[in-house]
Amino acid sequence: MPKFNLITKGDRQSEGVAATLREALLQRGMTIDPENPDIVITVGGDGTFLRAIHRHLDDLDRCVFIGMHTGTLGFTTNYATDEWDLLVYDLTNHTAPIVTIPLLKVDVETENGSITYHAVNEIRVENIIRTQLLNVTINQTFLETFRGTGLCISGQVGSTAYNRSAGGAILQEGLDLLQITEITGIHHRAYRSLGSPLVIAKDSVITLDSDDFHGALLCYDHESVKLDHVRKITIRYAKQKAQVMTRADKHYFDRIKNLF
Ligand code: NAP
Repeated sequence: MPKFNLITKGDRQSEGVAATLREALLQRGMTIDPENPDIVITVGGDGTFLRAIHRHLDDLDRCVFIGMHTGTLGFTTNYATDEWDLLVYDLTNHTAPIVTIPLLKVDVETENGSITYHAVNEIRVENIIRTQLLNVTINQTFLETFRGTGLCISGQVGSTAYNRSAGGAILQEGLDLLQITEITGIHHRAYRSLGSPLVIAKDSVITLDSDDFHGALLCYDHESVKLDHVRKITIRYAKQKAQVMTRADKHYFDRIKNLF
């Protein structure tokens, strides 16, 4: 019998739904195993779903993730709170399709070697203290020197998150592309960069280098690290993919309609 973990947003509504779900799954013979689950169910929002994938990054080969949304329909959360019995039915009868979400990875070069981080939505370099200069190279071809607050590099799932707020395009489900979006770029006679979102092939390798990352943060989804002594970071799609139980009857465009 499959082992499951339930991760909630922590609010009263999510806790209540999670308790009902927990009981229903235990009654069907499943067991709770927060450390080595086969199924991870989140109750909350897209943010809760992101955190669950980060928590189980080492279990992606084995785990299937299922998201229940306590608000409006989410992008990664496919079941509404009053559909908990449908979720249990789909899970036990294998009636819902499983899709894969490729993760992004960033290699950060430091004086002591390289450190790798993973993201579901996006990887951002942000400097809110001073103008950040970033030399952007794609597949070893120099593109531009960007000056401004920073850059957001997102995949398809992240296209509706920070990328959208920064003026990036929404990529339809299934389009596993990379998108580079400026975060308040400076554009005048002396400094010029592309100034519009750039969507590129999924196997692209993006390098951002700078002589001075002082004050800059590397943000990967809800996580962040300081880039103070870094010279170069490299971003691409990772080999790791998260398996997500989805809904054939919930069209992507219906989710988009919830955004406005
Ligand atoms: P968070 O509270 O977990 O999320 C911030 C908002 O972004 C929430 O409304 C969340 O939806 C929504 N969201 C997250 N992933 C999404 C996706 N793939 N598509 C559409 N909406 C999505 O915030 P956090 O802990 O700071 O960071 C988590 C993520 O939030 C980041 O990866 C970033 O993309 C996004 N974020 C966006 C902005 C912005 O747009 N200015 C600022 C900060 C962070 P739920 O309410 O369903 O959880």
